Amino acid sequence: MSASTLVDTYAQFPIELVEGYGSRVRDANGRDYWDFYGGHAVALLGQAHPAVTQAIGEQAARLTFYSNVVPLDVRTRAAQRLCRFTPAGLDHVFFCNSGTEANEAALKLAIQQTGRKRIAALKGAFHGRTLLSVAATDSAKLHASLEGLLVDTARLRPNAIDDVELINQAVAAVIVEPIQSIAGIVELEESFLAALRRRCDQMGALLIYDEIQTGMGRLGRPFAAGAYGVLPDMITLAKGIANGIPMGAVVMNDRVAAPIKIGDLGSTFGGGPVACAGLLAVIETIEAERLVEHAAHLGERMRDTLKIGPVRQILGRGCLIGLVVEGAAKDVQKHLLERGFITGTSDNPQLLRLMPPINTPLEAVDELGRALKA
Ligand code: PLP
Repeated sequence: MSASTLVDTYAQFPIELVEGYGSRVRDANGRDYWDFYGGHAVALLGQAHPAVTQAIGEQAARLTFYSNVVPLDVRTRAAQRLCRFTPAGLDHVFFCNSGTEANEAALKLAIQQTGRKRIAALKGAFHGRTLLSVAATDSAKLHASLEGLLVDTARLRPNAIDDVELINQAVAAVIVEPIQSIAGIVELEESFLAALRRRCDQMGALLIYDEIQTGMGRLGRPFAAGAYGVLPDMITLAKGIANGIPMGAVVMNDRVAAPIKIGDLGSTFGGGPVACAGLLAVIETIEAERLVEHAAHLGERMRDTLKIGPVRQILGRGCLIGLVVEGAAKDVQKHLLERGFITGTSDNPQLLRLMPPINTPLEAVDELGRALKA
């Protein structure tokens, strides 16, 4: 048995990409694709957005990196800008580099601040692969080799209000994706989120929304937090926040931020200047190009026009959409790739996941509809 130079840890699409612009990517044979996968929901503004490219290029040319041992104007501006974009009440930010790190930091803060050793998360959840995040993730496969190393996790069923009773005074925090993505686009109902908030308040537990996929305008609203009149104590962000420059963030309320002391959290790369310049450019572009509204229009267009061909049902909202198909989603995905569309699958074998850049033109959806029909 011989291993390849790059260890074989990913199942890969049978195409090699060499360049891209906006929602189009090109393979090594010069063939173009519409990207409804977005490099796993990371290409929020697509490839090579001029404003992001200019911002990260200029920052790299001026000061490529300095750690958190010194204050940086670009980091301060990025934090302030992000906290203006997130709902009022979530006004403090810790920067890191990825989704799992953001969830790890949020759960660690909850454990530190409550002195409790148990967490709660949902069936079907995906929160990452580091120890606290993977404990919150509902995956027997990912847990198999980690027995004895994982924090005890209460497992609630999505939208099962009775299950909120599992949150007791031993639980430090509850973490949820407002729309579970990898599970197969499972939307949490407003009443369930409100019940979680009430129960957390009664039990002294913290509520965390993992908005790594649902945040930054993707749902046709800035964030799920604040959209239902329930605010979590923290939201975690990553993926597209700097449009592909690795970056994660925990945005938190006063209650969580106030007790944090020097050394409680840390990251060498977190809040690096190039990532911060990218984040600033992303938010400025979302606002200047009215992309939250555009994401909502794209979602409506997908819902209105894609129930066609093998598609039986459409789930989700904005640019986080699930197409429930007849037969295996993998087969539909393969056929779509042959017709020039990159799409994603999920844990639900009959669900095709669409996570296009939020500035994708509406015509791309119409073209996808024609390909599905064919
Ligand atoms: N949370 C959610 C909802 C995700 O979809 C992912 C990644 O797919 C993560 C957390 C982990 O993010 P990362 O791969 O950046 O660690």
